[in-house]
Amino acid sequence: MTYDSLMIHYGELSTKGMNKKAFINTLYQNVKHALKSFGVGVSYTHDFILVKLDDASYEPVLARIQEIPGIQKISLVAKVEKDMNEIIKACLELVSKEEGKTFKVDVHRVDKAFPVRSYDATCQIADEILHNTDKTVDLHNYDIFLKVAIRLDYAYISCHEYPGLGGYPLGMNGKVMHLLSGGIDSPVAAYKLLRRGIALETIHFASPPYTSAAVIDKLTDILGELNVYQRNIKLNIIPFTKIQEAIYKYVPEPYCITVMRRMMMRLAVGLAKAHHCLAVSTGESVGQVASQTLQSLIVINEVTNYPVLRPLAAEDKVSIIDQSKKIGTYEISIRPYEDCCTIFKPKKPKTHPSLLEAIEYENRFDYSAMIEEALERVEILYVEEGEVHEAVQE
Ligand code: ATP
Ligand code: MG
Repeated sequence: MTYDSLMIHYGELSTKGMNKKAFINTLYQNVKHALKSFGVGVSYTHDFILVKLDDASYEPVLARIQEIPGIQKISLVAKVEKDMNEIIKACLELVSKEEGKTFKVDVHRVDKAFPVRSYDATCQIADEILHNTDKTVDLHNYDIFLKVAIRLDYAYISCHEYPGLGGYPLGMNGKVMHLLSGGIDSPVAAYKLLRRGIALETIHFASPPYTSAAVIDKLTDILGELNVYQRNIKLNIIPFTKIQEAIYKYVPEPYCITVMRRMMMRLAVGLAKAHHCLAVSTGESVGQVASQTLQSLIVINEVTNYPVLRPLAAEDKVSIIDQSKKIGTYEISIRPYEDCCTIFKPKKPKTHPSLLEAIEYENRFDYSAMIEEALERVEILYVEEGEVHEAVQE
């Protein structure tokens, strides 16, 4: 008797009532896709997805499953016929092989027609283990937790559970236009959205020749890491040079960043609407820099009533860095690059900008025409499973 499958337990989606079917189906498709190269069989029921390991070793399959949003936990299980003798035999065999002195048994009878009640089954299994091994029962400080689920089709026996990523299956919560800068924060913000089942398109504002083309390699590498959660991510590169030059010509230095952010927001919302994204998102964190004080965010937000998600709003930089290391984007993000925000960085940016002043300064040039022109000249790349594909202009 060996463990032959991984059982995937649904996360929050199990509380989703009416949508449960769609949630399970989406998760099932995502799991099937993610495990394509492992040669394992994937099937699903109302309560779980089962990954039949066949000859595959479980560790790499488990590691891949742990990267899929929408999964609460995963257990390594042995599937046995629903016969009490078979179940007892299998439990004894599996527990005997486990290290550890103490154990606890938990039987969950999903199939109420199964003739042995959960309590009786628990006692019978525990007795067998007590009589045939040197292990003892400890209900509180156990080394081995033997779980037996008597389901409609089979009984599933498990001693090992692993945490899933949580969140929702990707594709269940719409699509968002995410601003990706090449710094540390925005990839982490992207990950947080992906984990909640939100699909992403990304935008980058490029200001050649002030910013170098190398930033695009950086962004595509970052997106390659995020492909773990979303297989194919679109990168919209927006030509920002003209707007930026106009800002630095017409707007007093302390307001340059505020006005620049307002322009970025207008462009992002314009593209989000055109591409059917339900919101815009950024890696902003309250108080991190001058443009991210609440007073600045209000002035920036004023250009739109479209939803703007800021998943890192209340996160500390240290915790953001930790997360970026975990998702593998940190080393890419710290490669040196010039961003359009850093090259024109004013010496004394306004931390408490006035909305009226910002409007007055930006009205000194015809930004609407420039925004329209920039949106017409968006360059599009797709990053799919780490590979970059160019697209024809949309
Ligand atoms: P990051 O926030 O990614 O670490 P950063 O800290 O250098 O980069 P900020 O100046 O904090 O960037 O910008 C805040 C947010 O604005 C970014 O997280 C990103 O969402 C957006 N942003 C800034 N610059 C750009 C850009 N050139 N293209 C797209 N989005 C940008
Ligand atoms: Mg930042």
